[in-house]
Amino acid sequence: MAVDITTDLNVVRNIGIMAHIDAGKTTTTERILFYTGISYKIGEVHDGAAVMDWMEQEQERGITITSAATTCWWKKHQINIIDTPGHVDFTAEVERSLRVLDGAVAVFDGVAGVEPQTMTVWRQANKYSVPRMCFVNKLDRTGADFFRCVDMMVDRLNSTPLVLQLPIGAESDFLGVVDLVGMRALTWRGETTMGEDYTVEEIPAELAEQAAEYREKLLETLSDADDVIMEKFLDEGEFSVEELEAAIRRATLADKVNPVLCGTAFKNKGVQPLLDAVVKYLPSPLDVEGIVGHSVKDEDVEIVRKPSDDEPFSGLAYKIASDPHLGKLIYIRVYSGKLEAGSTVVNSVNGRKERIGKVYQMHANKREEIASVGAGQIVAVMGLKDTKTGHTLSDPQHQVILESMTFPAPVIEVA
Ligand code: GDP
Repeated sequence: MAVDITTDLNVVRNIGIMAHIDAGKTTTTERILFYTGISYKIGEVHDGAAVMDWMEQEQERGITITSAATTCWWKKHQINIIDTPGHVDFTAEVERSLRVLDGAVAVFDGVAGVEPQTMTVWRQANKYSVPRMCFVNKLDRTGADFFRCVDMMVDRLNSTPLVLQLPIGAESDFLGVVDLVGMRALTWRGETTMGEDYTVEEIPAELAEQAAEYREKLLETLSDADDVIMEKFLDEGEFSVEELEAAIRRATLADKVNPVLCGTAFKNKGVQPLLDAVVKYLPSPLDVEGIVGHSVKDEDVEIVRKPSDDEPFSGLAYKIASDPHLGKLIYIRVYSGKLEAGSTVVNSVNGRKERIGKVYQMHANKREEIASVGAGQIVAVMGLKDTKTGHTLSDPQHQVILESMTFPAPVIEVA
């Protein structure tokens, strides 16, 4: 049965995962779907083996991560993972999806560090000021070097890494991470299973000095980006976890820092804290002030659509996919208003009326037919005839052509 999906936009995260080929984008995404699916949607599946079988089946059918958007839930937050191709040949496609996502996680190979395709996609993300976090993956591999990778983020990406974690152990003895915000250790001893699966411990004595040093660096970097923290830092005040998290979020949304986390997707070590960080630090659709478009009649007349269900409907078709069961599906990001199955909208680019057929939200293990969906959401739609990638669909009475996007609090340089 079709359902209405209106979710509090505060809990929605539209994110992309970007990486050089082989850095571990697919594996990280799979781990995310594994943990989120288990904890929040597939209550009926009880043991890990069954879930892995299910993942393998899904992989064979090619739905899981080849889907242009996959919705999952983590701690009462809805995370829509939007596929961003990592290959150089797809840069046009990457640009298009960058307009659709609100934030991104860049995955790095802990051995190779910052690789060329990441540099390309990173530059594109700079263009749109997309708030980004970094996940240094593959720390279980021989030759992995977290600190070298962080240095490369400065040298090659010209970014401001905000190191939030330090690795505990290395290579095959990689055990977990020091959480520099909570000043505690998160470890994965023995087999990992599912859910929020790690042990919270004291920071190991041999890492105490390094942890104190990096905590100081974290506060310094953060105070450069945030006045509230700066003032207290200069007064040598104590910071609560909540205070720091709020400041990290502000600085990330303003695209002033890039929080850095680490682990290995391969052995499921580090993915749950990564999900926590996505929820804490990356923007919701409400953090994006509004999408800027223009009038159909006059390109010089600017129209801004706010992320609210009360605005007229506007959406951007960002990907056309062929589903083995459903046929042609067009993925749409709804920027404002509501999109309803069976309604008529206008393709503002070619002026044609389009009837919206069935509307789906795509999950890793199933698709959910929905009757209507609100602003800020990503859905797949059937039945559109004349709509191509990059076209705007609007409410027939309130047309707009969407162009560029204003990301949260653009950094204004004061001379
Ligand atoms: P993608 O091209 O970025 O999607 O990379 P994949 O996720 O397909 O990973 C590329 C290869 O690296 C695969 O053989 C994975 O099994 C392996 N891999 C991914 N993550 C890890 C990790 O954390 N540790 C190790 N040792 N191998 C990994």
